[in-house]
Parts: sequence; C-alpha cells; structure tokens
Amino acid sequence: MTNATPSIRFLNTLTRRKERFTPIEAGKVRMYTCGPTVYDYAHIGNFRAFLFEDLLKRWLEYSGYKVTHVMNLTDVDDKTIRGSQKQQIPLKQYTQHYANAFFEDIKKLNIKPATHYPKATDHIPEMVTLIKTLMEKGYAYKSQDGSIYYAINKFKNYGKLSHTKIAELKTGARVKTDEYTKEEAQDFALWKTWTPEDGDVFWETDLGKGRPGWHIECSAMSMRYLGETFDIHCGGIDNMFPHHENEIAQSEAATGKKFVNYWLHNEHLLVEGRKMAKKLGNFYTLRDLLGKGYDPIAIRYLLLSTHYRQQFNFTLEGLDAAKSAIERLRNFTRRLQDANGKESEGKVASALHVVQTGFGCAMDDDLNVSVALGALFDFVRDVNALLDAGIVSKKEADSVYTVMQRFDTVLGIIGEVEQEEPLPKEAKDLIQKREEARKAKDWAAADALRIRLREMGVVVEDTPQGAKWHLEKTD
Ligand code: AMP
Ligand code: ZN
Repeated sequence: MTNATPSIRFLNTLTRRKERFTPIEAGKVRMYTCGPTVYDYAHIGNFRAFLFEDLLKRWLEYSGYKVTHVMNLTDVDDKTIRGSQKQQIPLKQYTQHYANAFFEDIKKLNIKPATHYPKATDHIPEMVTLIKTLMEKGYAYKSQDGSIYYAINKFKNYGKLSHTKIAELKTGARVKTDEYTKEEAQDFALWKTWTPEDGDVFWETDLGKGRPGWHIECSAMSMRYLGETFDIHCGGIDNMFPHHENEIAQSEAATGKKFVNYWLHNEHLLVEGRKMAKKLGNFYTLRDLLGKGYDPIAIRYLLLSTHYRQQFNFTLEGLDAAKSAIERLRNFTRRLQDANGKESEGKVASALHVVQTGFGCAMDDDLNVSVALGALFDFVRDVNALLDAGIVSKKEADSVYTVMQRFDTVLGIIGEVEQEEPLPKEAKDLIQKREEARKAKDWAAADALRIRLREMGVVVEDTPQGAKWHLEKTD
C-alpha cells in the first residue's frame, strides 16, 4: 500500500483526547520511543512497552506510512553507574553486555528493529550544546557545586503533559537524582558535576567535568535524529513524569517550537495487582520464561493482546491460553493451503470484507487490538465452518491466506506455516495407490494400505474433501 490512511486516531496524553492522526510530512511518521536503561536484563513489563510500540509501528506501516523510528539506549545514568561499580566492570563493558542481551530478546519476541538505536554516551556533544542554549536563554543555571539545573518556573508550560500545576511546585529547590515523583517536582539536573562516587565516569566539556542527567539525553537524541518537532513520542506511563515532562521543558525552551505532536503512554504490566518492577522483585525476565519452556511468541501475543492503555495482570496461565490462540491461527492458515472445495458463492468474500473492516476500524481506533483480535477469531470460526462443509475453493482459500499473512505483518505471531510436511516417496506412492483402491471401492486393499502407512508413521484420515494425512507425532 502506498496511500497512508487518514483515519487513525490516538488518545493523546497531551490533550487527554482522542485525536485524528495527521503527520507533519504526508505519508511519513517520525517517532521516538524511550529505550531500555541497559543496567540489567529487561523484564517483561519493559517488553510490554516495547511490544506496544512495535504494534504501533507495524500498524502505521500497514496503513501505508513510512516510519522513521528512533529508540535510544540509556547507557549512562545513576543506575548504570551504580551497577557497573557494584560489579567492578568499566561502564562501557557493563552496558554493552545488557545492550546485546536486549537485542537478542527483541529478536526472540519478533520486534521489528528501530531505524536508529543511539546510545547516550555517543551523543554527549549534542547534550552539551543543548544545555548551553538553555543557559544562554535563561532556563538553566549553575549551582554552587558546578552542576547545572533547569529552572522549572522559567518555562510557563511546565506540567502541561502530566497536568501538574506550576503553583504547586517547589521552584528553586533542586533534585539531582534522575527519578523522583510528581510531589517532589523541582529544578532538575541537566549536567551533574563530577563527584568521587562517579569514579571514572565523566566527560571534560565546556560545562566542566561531569556527566549528563537522564532527561537531557532523550531531548538531545530525539531532536538529533528526528528534528526539533516530530510526530509521536511513546513510553510507559511511569515515564510521563518527570522524564517526558522534562523532555518537553528542555526541548521547547531551547527551540521555541512544539516538541512532539502526539504523546502515547502504555499502562503497566502488573503482577498480583502491583506494577512489575525491578525494585519490587516481582518480575520475570524474558530469559526466566524461556528457561521454563515458554514460547516467546506466546509471550508476544499475551503482552500485545490487551489494549495498551489498560493495566494488565500477568499470569503463567495467560501464557498457556496465548499459546492455544496462536495455534488456532496457525492451524487455520495451514488448513487453507490444502483447501480445494466448491465455490462458496460469495460467503468467503463477504467474511473477508467483514474481517478487514472490523480489524481495521478497531486498530484505527487508538490501536484497539482486543477488538481487532475478536474480529479475527470470528472470521476464523466462520471460514473453518465453510472449510468443514467443503465450500471453500482453492482461489478463495488463497485470498484468505493472503489476508491472514497481511494481518500477520501487524501481529507478528503466525509466521511461515509449512506448505507441506516432508513425505518419503514410498509413502507418497502408497497414498496414491490407496486413493485408487478407494475409487475402485476396494475397501480391504485401502485398509491394508492405511495400516502399512501407519507403520511408516503416516496417519491417513478420510474427510469429506478426500483423504488427508499427517506425520505421527513422535514426542
Ligand atoms: P527502563 O529500562 O526502566 O527505562 O524502562 C523501559 C520502558 O519500560 C519504559 O517505557 C518504561 O516506562 C516501561 N516500563 C517499565 N516497567 C513497566 C511495566 N511494569 N509495565 C509496562 N511498562 C513498563
Ligand atoms: Zn527517554
């Protein structure tokens, strides 16, 4: 498809309203998603965020947009420095290990790679330039210890994303840590002057010897790759304040332009009603689950199948249900390949119309994936019934197969289904002979051939569409 559809609507956190999506440049989308802090293996709560962003990108691409997607890697911040010191490994080596693990994990989850994965440590000059601009424009000041802070009372729109009123803020008070709550909103660190606790992590710059704060990293990297104003910015709801609020304050004060048009935030993955988080110790990494024998695509399906703005309780039983849902779709797709019945007299075409409209309208409506999946499973049920009755022609089955593959460019869960199981020539000949015996109504010969095939591990079943075979399971 080349024509981007104008019918997508998103709930924009900035306005708290559902808005029709209009990109800055026709047919193109520039989006930034906050990536992992590479201080540990990502947990599946983090992957809920990355999978939602994958679904969003795939839906935009399905709809005809060319998407430039930037995901940063936070490889210097309070957490990475603390982690590398604990393990007594240089910061670069420590974060590289977790960055590699992250790329392995997203591949297993069938997450499409971003266009760029900038690392914070490769963009210190851009951060320094941005901080200097903020100082020149009067939005930032140096404290006594040499650190540089953003003066939140200078930016009149501070609080516009998280809906925090400036009057409630303790302006002038300062917070140096990267993470803090809304109640603690105050001037935040753009540049942290070196202290002995930072060890050998520092850069000698025009701002002095030190390192950047976390928030400036994303402002600098997003604008470096996507321009001063871009279309979409995503992240988990926990990043809305202070991280995204601060990104807006930094970027808009520096450029005088609107930073981002649409802000999309995913809700949390919960465990027994609480946010899955490292500090609560209630998390699973992808590796934990794969080690227990769970299929990564079932994890993908489970984390994708609830609307991104709804909280979702993770359970292992949920993974079993996800596995069966995927199997249902795969079996259906496999079945289509040997359909060779009568024409359905428009029934297949009408089911295709219903599912394409239902799936598309639901996804256009702020990525309502659960409704889209509902439409898809209704369709599978209806076409399965037609297949059972032998009224799906080869041509119709092909068009259903094409549509299933196209839906799968969005869902990424069906993949390649085998066209035909490999069968030894000898077995093929016996199946052929058995068909001839059946045609000749020589039931005794047909049964004997069935037994011989069974001994070779080939199970033959007679169905209204003729004999079907599959290889006997050995496990
Ligand atoms: P981090 O590596 O901590 O910067 O987090 C990476 C992404 O995961 C961010 O977008 C977070 O908001 C998101 N995130 C963290 N915990 C959860 C959770 N339990 N459920 C959903 N998203 C989360
Ligand atoms: Zn970020």
